[in-house]
Amino acid sequence: MRVLLVEDDDGVGDALTEALAARGHVPTRVRRGADALTRHHEADLVLLDLGLPDTDGLEVLRMLRKVADVPVLVLTARGDERSVVRGLRLGADDYVVKPVRLAELLARMDTITHRAARSAAALTNVVRVSDVEIDMSARRVRVGGEETSLTTKEFELLAVLARRLGTAVSRQQLMDEVWGDAYLAISRSLDVHMTQLRGKLKRPGLLTTIRGFGYRLGE
Ligand code: CA
Repeated sequence: MRVLLVEDDDGVGDALTEALAARGHVPTRVRRGADALTRHHEADLVLLDLGLPDTDGLEVLRMLRKVADVPVLVLTARGDERSVVRGLRLGADDYVVKPVRLAELLARMDTITHRAARSAAALTNVVRVSDVEIDMSARRVRVGGEETSLTTKEFELLAVLARRLGTAVSRQQLMDEVWGDAYLAISRSLDVHMTQLRGKLKRPGLLTTIRGFGYRLGE
């Protein structure tokens, strides 16, 4: 992963840069808090020292959290409880006190980036259109806040349309994605399933038939 290491101490900075690179990460080292604020978007994870020459690291963290969700692991000599609690409250994903044990640091880095990836996936996995909410990973659909029970095929059709929200999807593509090679046999049942799906969603304006082509989900 791309790691932005914000560390003014050359001894620590060089050792960590080398150790991270040796394990396949792509570290970028900067020395000032201001650099963290301009370069965080280049990183998958920020390792943030607190004792920085220009701005206190906790202030850097506070400003960073106003503009970015990038995972931040505070790496500092400040092990007093007050600093740790402040760091976590300001939005640090983890807090490690120096001297750092490398294996532990790497494990903590992995944990927080996996967690960040999972929550990002969870966020993008719910598609909302009007008052219809389609949870792609849980395979659940709510209409006006009420859960609607769909058959496997109905859900798959809806999911294909939801992934291309607002876009016309051809019958061919729907059949390919939902039935695979068997589509020739079920061309007619696409319409049957679509009629049932439309009935269950009870939002006729959301699911448009495009004559001679296919369907579109969207307002
Ligand atoms: Ca320092």
